[in-house]
Amino acid sequence: MLSKKGIKSEVKVRFAPSPTGPLHIGAARTALFNWLFAKKNKGKFILRIEDTDISRYKKEYEKDILKALKWLGLNWDKGPYYQSRRKEIYKKYIKKLLKEGKAFWCYHTKEELEAEKKEQMKKGEAPRHICEHKLNSQKSEVKSAIKNSKLKGIIRFNTPIKKIKFTDVIRGEIEFDTSLLGDFSIAKDLNNPLYNLTCVIDDYEMKINYVIRGEDHIPNTPKQILIQEALGFPTPYYAHLPLILGPDRSKLSKRHNAMPINEYKRLGYLPEALINFMAFLGWNPKNEREFFMLDDLIKEFSLESIGKSGAIFNIQKLDYLNGYYIRHTDLNKLTKMCIPYLEKAKLIKKIKDLKFKILETNEIIDFNYIKKIVKLEQERIKKLNEIKELTEFFFKKKLKYKPELLKWKNISLIEVKRNLEILEREILKIKKNEFNEKKLKDILMPLTEKYGRGEILWPFRVALSGKKASPGPFEIAEILGKEKVLERIREAKKLCEVSS
Ligand code: GLU
Repeated sequence: MLSKKGIKSEVKVRFAPSPTGPLHIGAARTALFNWLFAKKNKGKFILRIEDTDISRYKKEYEKDILKALKWLGLNWDKGPYYQSRRKEIYKKYIKKLLKEGKAFWCYHTKEELEAEKKEQMKKGEAPRHICEHKLNSQKSEVKSAIKNSKLKGIIRFNTPIKKIKFTDVIRGEIEFDTSLLGDFSIAKDLNNPLYNLTCVIDDYEMKINYVIRGEDHIPNTPKQILIQEALGFPTPYYAHLPLILGPDRSKLSKRHNAMPINEYKRLGYLPEALINFMAFLGWNPKNEREFFMLDDLIKEFSLESIGKSGAIFNIQKLDYLNGYYIRHTDLNKLTKMCIPYLEKAKLIKKIKDLKFKILETNEIIDFNYIKKIVKLEQERIKKLNEIKELTEFFFKKKLKYKPELLKWKNISLIEVKRNLEILEREILKIKKNEFNEKKLKDILMPLTEKYGRGEILWPFRVALSGKKASPGPFEIAEILGKEKVLERIREAKKLCEVSS
């Protein structure tokens, strides 16, 4: 059905988020799959903001959604359309349905509806409202009684009892018995239509021919097909994407590190990593390939290769992909991306283009200095926000660490101090303009042969970084420069004195 030949008219898909929360990973995956399907088939990807639920609507959510989509690179061809601005269109259709008796006003009170629900639950039936008002609504005495009453009604669909069948591109044939649906509501009144109705009208008006959305919308599909039939609209193809589950196969939640997209962005995940990660939430290539950027996905993606069973969300996979994309990011670009994290941590402050101040020391550094630091960590970091923790020792006036950390194995602090003195003496011999990694190695490596590798290099590295794990001492030393290196060695010596 989905072969190239099978798609007769231009593919038109939509992403239709409700701005009742930020753009979450699940909805973003829906957006991605719609986008890919549109690109693959040279069709159109439409963005529609379903903002009819004003009680839960927030402008900030709407902004968040648009920002996150743009950041991911999922640009839309048309829209955003806002349902709140299309009320006249919906009204026209509601009136038509009412006039034709395909919809009706229901005046049952909340209490009556509750009682009906209780009764049905008791009998083990699906809770639904089967309304007797629909039978009477055309009778003139009912009409005038309604007109004269102050009752606040709701508009419901006059559900015919039948079987609804549709073929889901992913799940195959799905059949529904409409008697389980009851006379579902489609509008609060003429000016306040509800989701199932607005969705059907917009999909028709916007000529959407493929509806790709989460599996949680399957129960809405028979209702939407009924409305399409009542209005004489064609039924689009449906593709319901599998649920996203945690590694323990439970419902995906914060506990599994499922978050809104902008939160991932804040933590330093790259859009490429999220795209790659989300693509695998349901879709799989036919081979072992792991890394896919948007362009690769356009080539490889198809709805048919989406699985039916739940997609497992595993944050370690995302971290792994993120590490990969960080390693493959151009160093200049990566440095630019890391700088905001160092600024936010109040380690550095931008003073002008490509010039920064180290806040603790007031020292002025340039972009290349930061670039060297970032380069040291590029292979290791999994998320950009780790850059602070990993590199802050470069920007500190004084390092804080326990003297014991300077000890290689069981050697005493007295010996550590002696080794630091040897280091200091040798380093003093290096000219400032020759102070680089190579020179340091040439001078210091012979010492390791004489005094032991760990004995020399371990306290050297700890003196410079204050950390148990860090890049090697020669690389750090070159970046810090002769003066700071000597200063840190002297500080380490002092620590040994105080504690021995
Ligand atoms: N506004 C709905 C949602 O956010 C869209 C559902 C649909 O795609 O039809 O879940």
